[in-house]
Amino acid sequence: MKIPLIDVKISDPNMRTEIGSTLSRLIDSTSFIGGEEVNKFSEEFAESCGGGYCAPVGNGTDALILALRALKVGPGDEVITVPYTFIATTEAISVVGATIRFVDIHPKSYNMDVSLLEKAITKKTKAIIPVHLYGQPCDMDPIMDLAKKHKLKVIEDAAQAHGAEYKGRRVGTLGDAGCFSFYPTKNLGGFGDGGAVVSQSKELIEKVNQLANHGRSEHYYHEVEGINSRLDSFQAAVLRIKLRKLDEWTDRRRAIAEQYTKALVQNSFITPPHIESYAKHVFHLFCVESPSRDELMRHLKSKGISCGVYYPLPLHLQPAYAHLGYKKGDFLISERLIERILSIPVSPSLTDTQVEYVCSALHQFSPKTLIK
Ligand SMILES: *Cc1c(COP(=O)(O)O)cnc(C)c1O
Repeated sequence: MKIPLIDVKISDPNMRTEIGSTLSRLIDSTSFIGGEEVNKFSEEFAESCGGGYCAPVGNGTDALILALRALKVGPGDEVITVPYTFIATTEAISVVGATIRFVDIHPKSYNMDVSLLEKAITKKTKAIIPVHLYGQPCDMDPIMDLAKKHKLKVIEDAAQAHGAEYKGRRVGTLGDAGCFSFYPTKNLGGFGDGGAVVSQSKELIEKVNQLANHGRSEHYYHEVEGINSRLDSFQAAVLRIKLRKLDEWTDRRRAIAEQYTKALVQNSFITPPHIESYAKHVFHLFCVESPSRDELMRHLKSKGISCGVYYPLPLHLQPAYAHLGYKKGDFLISERLIERILSIPVSPSLTDTQVEYVCSALHQFSPKTLIK
């Protein structure tokens, strides 16, 4: 059996037909930038985040950049985030001219360790970017409390967490702004790049929309200098059709995760993800921890099961950030996790037979070597 780590194929023939006919209609309409599909997607996506407003943009990285810009984060400001995330989170901070400040993750949730946050706040701190890693929301209440106390903005990086819930509320609209990516492999993915900023503030979303469209207030009248970062109508059309299935796909991811977790109960060499009591985890990735990670990876691969390491090097040790002056030992939880973490297939399209096959492979694993 061959099981891919991530499967972006459209397996439902009806959906395939619907996407085909919708794109074909759009070709005839020649409405390629903006228009009804984009407007409708914005409304529907905001609705799926529990209300509020949505600015559709070119990709998830731009969503973060534009949210920071709209919240007036720039040169001289510090932004706190975690070193254990995809580099887009910190690229956005640098692009707006602000300074990256890291706090380590919590060893169980893999998300920002909130107990370290207040110590990292300085007079220059302007914003916090909690990342809902792998699809599990961060502990938002204490983050929002600290932000209120120190007058900081909170921008959720929800690129891996479409539909995730914190204490029953959907992520994205818990902070000042929430940023999503519709990169093809994300839980809601297009046929190319795409992203969105969501917020409870209509004013903020209007600002993001303006910045994403050359700072326009009229076609050739520019209120401010913006950029070009628009979601195109083809992507919006695909995303609208796929959004209707998102909750069903999330349920499937959660059911697969539950089966894996059960299969691991008796295996002391593999630890399934810890799910916080406040969290509805949407399992963008299902990551296990093992003291014999490399051997586990070889074991699964020998059985045709693809797996991957997210992430092999934390951001503070990346060559791109050598100038920040961090060193090995600065963020020990992140540094330890990169040796132990392994992501296994959790695509909603996996069949029951495939899931059972992965379960038995997990169940059977017994390492010959152990690392600390
Ligand atoms: C994917 C991702 C992004 C960036 O999204 P793009 O659409 O690829 O630009 C940002 N943050 C995290 C945590 C991501 O996983």
